Amino acid sequence: MKLICIGRNYTAHIEELANERPEEPVVFIKPDSAILPKEQDFYIPEFSNDVHYEVEVLVKIKKVGKHINEQFAHNYYDEIGLGIDFTARDLQAKLKEKGLPWEKAKGFDGAAVVGNWVHKSNFKDLNELNFSLIKNGKEVQKSNTSLMLWRIDELISYISMFFTLKKGDIIFTGTPSGVGRIVANDYLTGVLEGQTIFTVKIK
Ligand code: ZN
Repeated sequence: MKLICIGRNYTAHIEELANERPEEPVVFIKPDSAILPKEQDFYIPEFSNDVHYEVEVLVKIKKVGKHINEQFAHNYYDEIGLGIDFTARDLQAKLKEKGLPWEKAKGFDGAAVVGNWVHKSNFKDLNELNFSLIKNGKEVQKSNTSLMLWRIDELISYISMFFTLKKGDIIFTGTPSGVGRIVANDYLTGVLEGQTIFTVKIK
């Protein structure tokens, strides 16, 4: 399985990193080895002094699909989740500067937190989901999926023009503003519509 991630999907986050507003979704892949095993602590890798959290709404693909029309995209997923796209921002900045791929900065071991899954029927409207990240008891990121530049079904349609989606693939739909650095002993909690979806301890 693969993790398909969207960058720059929230205007306020594009502004905080002084990035250009994209004309199409920015897409990258994390390998399955990036998934942080459940109940395991996250160890800050030696190659970075500036690992950032990015909380994101996740979508789990339930069947194979290619060139999916947006109006049928809802048939390809039942489960919604929340996770973190950990990013070695210092390494990413160096790679971006040289025009090189981001993979090492975003695809390293443990760089993908995947929380619990919730069936989509539990939500009234997937385009109106409140979610947040709490660090050491303080809310650091808070947003709503209505603020995404591209919605879930649009993303699925777009991604499937390039990559065949397979059962079990996970889409990271992009992070809102408020990203920041983690240090040892931080404790992160992800909340989706009032429900705690994951907790991670930083080592
Ligand atoms: Zn991200």
